[in-house]
Amino acid sequence: MNCCTRCVLPDTFPGITFDQDGVCNYCRNNPVPDAEGKKALLAKFEALIEGKRSQGPFDVILAYSGGKDSTYTLSLLRERFGLKVLAFVFDNGFISGQSMENIRLMTDTLGAACFIFRPPFPVMKKAFALAAGSDIYSPKTLDRASSICTTCIGMVKAMVLKTALSYGIPLAAFGWSPGQAPLSSAIMQTGPRLQRFSDKSVRDPLVKLAGPEVEPYFLTDDDLAKDPSRWPVNVHPLAFMDYDEDDIVRKIGELGWVKPVDTDPNSTNCLLNALANHLHRERFHFHPYAWEIAGIVRSGCMDRAQGLEKVSQEEDREMVNYAARLLGIGLGR
Ligand SMILES: [Zn+2]
Repeated sequence: MNCCTRCVLPDTFPGITFDQDGVCNYCRNNPVPDAEGKKALLAKFEALIEGKRSQGPFDVILAYSGGKDSTYTLSLLRERFGLKVLAFVFDNGFISGQSMENIRLMTDTLGAACFIFRPPFPVMKKAFALAAGSDIYSPKTLDRASSICTTCIGMVKAMVLKTALSYGIPLAAFGWSPGQAPLSSAIMQTGPRLQRFSDKSVRDPLVKLAGPEVEPYFLTDDDLAKDPSRWPVNVHPLAFMDYDEDDIVRKIGELGWVKPVDTDPNSTNCLLNALANHLHRERFHFHPYAWEIAGIVRSGCMDRAQGLEKVSQEEDREMVNYAARLLGIGLGR
């Protein structure tokens, strides 16, 4: 398999082309965010929080997984920006035991309220098994994440938004790494029109197949009818803050965060990720984290060699089998 000589995207990635130096079109068309651009966004974020601070019980809701990136984001929101945080945890039934412990300890230590939301496991199982076994989503949706991750993240985003709307929380934060969140979407006003559009990619196809049982975990018509002025601004602080994996793990380690040993190398919280990655690679012949890792490498926050190692690693077979057993799906081999 050939890879871009600058990032880590392979020749199996949809729509990829290479120039004579072996550099891919995504590298050529995605200029590296410069220090000035990041500084301008940080200033914009600081002005935004000054305008939104102390309007209600919480300044910001954070999609919190207990993983390293969202834990670091929680520490920034609390310690650097001094915001009142509601940490929203979506328990998909696969959060590792150590992650749950991290969630409890980090929200206590950093002084954030924590809301753990758990749909009944049979409903999640049905949704994940459908995502694992059939082509629910458009191929474009799956360039950047596996079908299983897309299902879960779709629900997480919707539940964060629903909760922000019901509590009147003006900001919604996500711990996307610089590869997941381009600068252009680092600070973005949400609204019913945009939401209706994004519902088409995950909610609508999933509800169509899984049925009304999954509807409560997405926005309803009543939510969509809420006054656009009540809708929160989405922020991805890691897109414009310094980001270095080792540094982040060291900093949150000092707060007491412990790296789980039972998850795969690309996740520090989810026991379903190995199966999700395995199925994606079998089906599409590229790693579902390739896009994200390519972005981190491009932004200079990770060595290319380290990135290549991450996207070429085989999943741990035992972890793959564990998740497949819980979902009740066969793996064909
Ligand atoms: Zn590239």
